[in-house]
Amino acid sequence: MAKHPELALRVEPGSKPALHRFDCADTLGWEKDAAKAELDDVKARLDTLQYRLAAEDRRSVLLVLQAMDAAGKDGTIRSILSGMNPAGVDVVSFKAPGGPETAHDYLWRVHAAAPARGRLGVFNRSHYEDVLVVRVKSLVPPAVWKRRFDHINSFERLLVDEGTTIVKCFLHVSKDEQRRRLQARIDDPEKQWKFRAGDLDDRAKWDHFMAAYDEAIEETSTHDAPWYVVPADRNWVRNLAVSSILVHALEQVDPQYPPAAAGVSGMKVR
Ligand code: AMP
Ligand code: MG
Repeated sequence: MAKHPELALRVEPGSKPALHRFDCADTLGWEKDAAKAELDDVKARLDTLQYRLAAEDRRSVLLVLQAMDAAGKDGTIRSILSGMNPAGVDVVSFKAPGGPETAHDYLWRVHAAAPARGRLGVFNRSHYEDVLVVRVKSLVPPAVWKRRFDHINSFERLLVDEGTTIVKCFLHVSKDEQRRRLQARIDDPEKQWKFRAGDLDDRAKWDHFMAAYDEAIEETSTHDAPWYVVPADRNWVRNLAVSSILVHALEQVDPQYPPAAAGVSGMKVR
C-alpha cells in the first residue's frame, strides 16, 4: 500500500480527471478502524500547524470544497475542522449570488472572502460554481463561462503569489449513493431541512454536471492550485483523505513562530 495514497488523487496539470471511470467507493487501501485513529492523529497535526500559521501571521491556506449535493461538504468541514481553534479558521459558504453580489463580477465576493494572512480559509462551494451550475443551467452564454477558466487561473495565481497556499477537493459521490442519501434526508424528520426540491433538478442533470466538473478540473488543476478528486461514497475515507491532503499542504507551508522581540528571551516577570 502506498504511504500516502491520498496524494495520488491529485489531478496533474493538463490531464483529464475522467470522473465517470472513478471509483467513488474506493478505500485507498485503508481500513476503517485504523483510519479513525489516523484521522485523530491528522487532526492533532492540523491543530498544531494552524496554531503556527496564525503565530507566523504571514501566509494563509485555502481549502476549496466542491461537490454534488449530499456528497458531504458539510460533514467534511465538521469532521476535519473540529479539532482546530475556531478563532483561526474562516469557513465561507457560497450560495447563489444575491443583493450587491449580483452587481459585481463573479470573483468579487470570492476575493473578499479569501483568507487573510495567518488564517486557514475553507470554501464550501466557491467561484467554481460560476463554471459549473452556471454552465449546466445556462445562466450565462457559453462564451462567458468559457473565458472564466483563464480568469480563475489568474486569480488563483494572484492569491498564491501573494502568500496563499491553495488546495481544491472535489468530493466525488456516485449517483447511486447520492440517491440513498437524498432519500435518507427525505425520510428523516431531522434531515428534511437539508433537502431542497432543486436538488432533484440538479440530480436530473447529473451527466451535464460531471462533464462540467471534468472540464473545469482539467482546465484549472495547476501546479500552484491543484485539484484532488476524493472518493466520497464512504465518509471515513473522504474525511481522512481531505484532512491528509490539507495537513500535507500545511506541512509544505511549514509556518514558523516569529522570533522573540529583542531582550524577551530570559526576561523575568516580577
Ligand atoms: P447548498 O450548498 O447545498 O446549500 O446550496 C447552495 C446552492 O447555491 C447550490 O445549489 C449552488 O449551485 C448554488 N450556487 C452557489 N454559487 C452559485 C453561483 N455563483 N451561481 C449560481 N448558483 C450558485
Ligand atoms: Mg444542498
